[in-house]
Amino acid sequence: MDLKQYVTIVDNWPKEGIKFKDITTLMDNGDAYRYATDQIVEYAKEKQIDLVVGPEARGFIIGCPVAYALGVGFAPVRKPGKLPRETIQQQYGLEYGKDALTIHKDAIKPGQRVLITDDLLATGGTIDATIKLVEELGGIVAGTAFLIELTYLDGRDKLEGYDIMTLMQY
Ligand code: IMP
Repeated sequence: MDLKQYVTIVDNWPKEGIKFKDITTLMDNGDAYRYATDQIVEYAKEKQIDLVVGPEARGFIIGCPVAYALGVGFAPVRKPGKLPRETIQQQYGLEYGKDALTIHKDAIKPGQRVLITDDLLATGGTIDATIKLVEELGGIVAGTAFLIELTYLDGRDKLEGYDIMTLMQY
């Protein structure tokens, strides 16, 4: 299946000069959403995954059906102030300024093999911070999976040494 036909490119959003890749038109098509999910499940099956972890909010959309299909759990990574119990936090750089991501301290058991999911790999900052959270809790990042990779932003370089699978490249 050619998944790119289901991605809508939105010019100049959220700001001038950005060509935003909108995956909502992939998600709302049952065949395309299932096909994309199945591809990631096939990738994950070879990696003996114990847990799927994804950053809010689109990492949930990709990761939860994958976790369900694998029969493993899902742990959310969220912006500060969203998770109700004790968390650890990781800062990461944005184009302008800084942001942070958090995860519950007991979300991962040491030695668990983790698949990290998100909709899109751009500079890699979001996933780099997510990897650090997983590893700080003793998890092993067994793989990372994305619908889309913006190859010109070189996110792969930032994630050197980690296994990365992407379904579409721009
Ligand atoms: P990175 O941290 O630079 O790799 O940016 C990736 C994050 O930004 C992901 O969590 C994406 O959801 C979001 N993102 C950046 N560009 C786009 C886009 O064009 N479409 C959808 N999400 C995007």
